Amino acid sequence: FYPMCRRFQFSFQLPGVYQVFESVARKYDVMNDMMSLGIHRVWKDLLLLKMHPFPGTQLLDVAGGTGDIAFRFLNYVQAQHQRKQKRQLRAQQNLSWEEIAKKYQNQEDSLGGSRVMVCDINKEMLKMGKQKACARGYKAGLAWVLGDAEELPFDDDKFDVYTIAFGIRNVTHIDRALQEAHRVLKPGGRFLCLEFSQVNNPLVSRLYDVYSFQVIPVLGEVIAGDWKSYQYLVESIRQFPPQEEFKEMIEDAGFQKVTYENLTSGIVAIHSGFKL
Ligand code: SAM
Repeated sequence: FYPMCRRFQFSFQLPGVYQVFESVARKYDVMNDMMSLGIHRVWKDLLLLKMHPFPGTQLLDVAGGTGDIAFRFLNYVQAQHQRKQKRQLRAQQNLSWEEIAKKYQNQEDSLGGSRVMVCDINKEMLKMGKQKACARGYKAGLAWVLGDAEELPFDDDKFDVYTIAFGIRNVTHIDRALQEAHRVLKPGGRFLCLEFSQVNNPLVSRLYDVYSFQVIPVLGEVIAGDWKSYQYLVESIRQFPPQEEFKEMIEDAGFQKVTYENLTSGIVAIHSGFKL
């Protein structure tokens, strides 16, 4: 089967970005787990650890899709806020940890003023995200907006943090999306991007090539009945600029103190920059 996949892999007319995500939306989460063997969850957790949001953080998650980053953010800020309040309560009222735990049983929604706005160009992806939020009981501090990363429907200087996870490579004009990220961030705000990047280990690189070109489209066909969309996703990974080049693009958009961290031998990287 593999040689057949190889022979035909470039003979398809690849679909446009909108059709791809419209088509994969329903199976998106299950395919993410299958294709990355669950590792995308660890990468997303690491993005949150890097962000380390402060109490009251206003986050914009662009290309937020089905809400993975938003839900992690809400979990993180809720846990952080509750820890802080419990410490204060213990210090002020001299309560035991058991008494504090009881007091907090009914206050699951406390986020300390932090909020996340999920923005995505595809209404099917947002629909799946909203359904997931409902099923998991997320209510406070979360909003969904249909919008294009290249022309964000927000005022200037509005957010403390801008995230984009596995989204920027799908944007047609990356430079415009980066300029928009800079515009909507407050001075002092942080840009964080989690994206597939260039593998820096030759052995991992060869295995990764085989896996992505020969296994992923097959998984796409078998699980989601959609070879073309997964072929497109693999192609888009290969066309995305490597770490250093992308770092320069972020700097060109006006960000400062731009750094990046490779994860899993550079299969993905987290780029960070500040609007100063
Ligand atoms: N961030 C989510 C995650 O990590 O699971 C979803 C990533 S998914 C691979 C890419 C998302 O980018 C899709 O939901 C797609 O609709 C969105 N997207 C593509 N082009 C976009 C654009 N120009 N503006 C906003 N979202 C876009």
